[in-house]
Amino acid sequence: MGDKINACNNVLELIGNTPLVKLNKISENLTGNFYAKVEAFNPGHSAKDRIALHIIEEAERKGILTEGSTIVETTSGNTGFSIAMVSMIKGYDCILAVSSKSSPDKIDMLRSMGAKVYVCPAHVSADDPRSYYQVAKRLHEETKGSIYINQYFNELNMEAHYKTTGPEIWEQTNGNITHLVACSGTGGTISGTSRFLKEQNPDIEVIGVDAFGSVLKKYHETGELDTDEIYPYRIEGLGKNLIPGATDFGAIDGFIKVTDEESAHTAREISKTEGIFAGYTCGAVMQATKQLDAEGKFGKDSNVVLIFPDHGSRYMSKIYSDQWMEDQGFLNNSSVEETQQIQV
Ligand code: PMP
Repeated sequence: MGDKINACNNVLELIGNTPLVKLNKISENLTGNFYAKVEAFNPGHSAKDRIALHIIEEAERKGILTEGSTIVETTSGNTGFSIAMVSMIKGYDCILAVSSKSSPDKIDMLRSMGAKVYVCPAHVSADDPRSYYQVAKRLHEETKGSIYINQYFNELNMEAHYKTTGPEIWEQTNGNITHLVACSGTGGTISGTSRFLKEQNPDIEVIGVDAFGSVLKKYHETGELDTDEIYPYRIEGLGKNLIPGATDFGAIDGFIKVTDEESAHTAREISKTEGIFAGYTCGAVMQATKQLDAEGKFGKDSNVVLIFPDHGSRYMSKIYSDQWMEDQGFLNNSSVEETQQIQV
């Protein structure tokens, strides 16, 4: 009887195989063809489902995890949500140390998936005992039978994308992809995807998106960590104040930086023009693509794939709040008036 029911056994079976969606209006004035790999279609609404599942299942295969084990991680929110989801279904406990920069919605969401959450100050250095890195390390040491996912320094992060995101894009484009534009945080998404794609065709150009206030672009260019590059910024999940071991800088051809303000407006524009409810870093990757187009990067036959990492619903109190946008100074007076008129 059961075999007549067409259901998956649990949501973990829905991870990956996300759609590639052609961009139309937003890329109207750009040269080339543009496609978004929409990672919000994962059950946890972000690309991080892929790494949570892969890392936890690798630990199971190696016999590291046993029933009732605890999984500890640092996270800007998305990885935490995915780990909490996978842990809950598989019967593990989940402890998360998150940055105070994460939106309140994200923190509540982690708790709703059963995770225990520690909120740590965003603007302290990585080796400060209050930083989310150090707090996670300490929690791991203090919790018997725990594993630390350590996404910034875990090779398996990259491997998850090498094994899934890369092959999916290759297949969905029938090997006709010419450029990949993707955000870099841990670097797992861009490095793993790029490694696979470049093995199929080394001519594919891979461009990483970085934030002003992050060290990644400068490090890629000079091989040195320049601490002058570090200052606070708004976008969550993009850029870094340290050099992540999970990034293969050799698999990335170049980086481009985007501002908080333009990325926020561009995310809102994606939602309004394409009907894809875009997270903040989707705005960043689209904004970067516009800048690359303005530099003459693409030709009319270019097939450019943009990775859209997560879903707009996570930013209702941020980029989709006119009040928040105004508080950041991101709305000029005319656009505020316009919005108010529409609301009346
Ligand atoms: N966008 C968002 C919203 C994220 O949470 C992350 C993860 N930090 C990224 C982009 C970057 O992905 P990755 O860590 O694989 O570089």
